[in-house]
Amino acid sequence: MLEATPSTRLFPNFAGDALKTWVFHNRVTLVGDAAHTHGGAFAAGGSLAIDDAYALSLALNHVWPAWKAQDGKPSSQDLATILSIYEKTRQPHINRVLSVVKQQVVGRRGAEEETDAELVARIVNRMDPSWISEHDVEGSFVAALTEREEEVALTNAKVVERKIKQMPQANL
Ligand SMILES: Cc1cc2nc3c(=O)[nH]c(=O)nc-3n(C[C@H](O)[C@H](O)[C@H](O)COP(=O)(O)OP(=O)(O)OC[C@H]3O[C@@H](n4cnc5c(N)ncnc54)[C@H](O)[C@@H]3O)c2cc1C
Repeated sequence: MLEATPSTRLFPNFAGDALKTWVFHNRVTLVGDAAHTHGGAFAAGGSLAIDDAYALSLALNHVWPAWKAQDGKPSSQDLATILSIYEKTRQPHINRVLSVVKQQVVGRRGAEEETDAELVARIVNRMDPSWISEHDVEGSFVAALTEREEEVALTNAKVVERKIKQMPQANL
């Protein structure tokens, strides 16, 4: 069959490193393959992209629910909050996926050819990849909200502390 094939077209298949952030200028974000290219490993790109979109919709509905849409556009602060919650919801899971891809797929490229026995052993002992597609997006979303609320509370506490320090001491 291979010899009878007149021509072939090869499409590059890249796996990239994890990005530090998916959010730019607090108003643009990456989703799906654009945010995390994993070279098609574990046939997971479709579910990862759908889970990203779901996480983004959860963050959007939390900060700027449908009833607010009648009031016009979300504020810059709303947008920054939405994108931050989205990123916090998905990035830890995706980073874990990318590190496994790097270790188990990319890291093997160019390795010495396996014997049949080694190949069989590797397939028999391979990781169960179901956790990649079965990410608890809603649980991570709640955790991301809590983390963000703690960060905001800490920042507010620091601002109050700084203001108190700047106040002239009362003459008691
Ligand atoms: C051969 C192959 C087999 C695969 N098999 C599987 C599988 O079995 N299981 C699985 O889960 N995943 C699989 N994937 C991966 C999966 O298809 C992707 O991970 C998934 O489609 C990513 O979704 P996305 O929305 O991020 O990007 P895409 O689906 O690539 O969507 C991006 C869209 O943006 C459009 N676009 C690009 N540039 C512009 C522009 N400048 N302006 C406007 N629009 C633009 C594109 O036309 C496209 O419609 C496979 C991929 C390939 C190539």
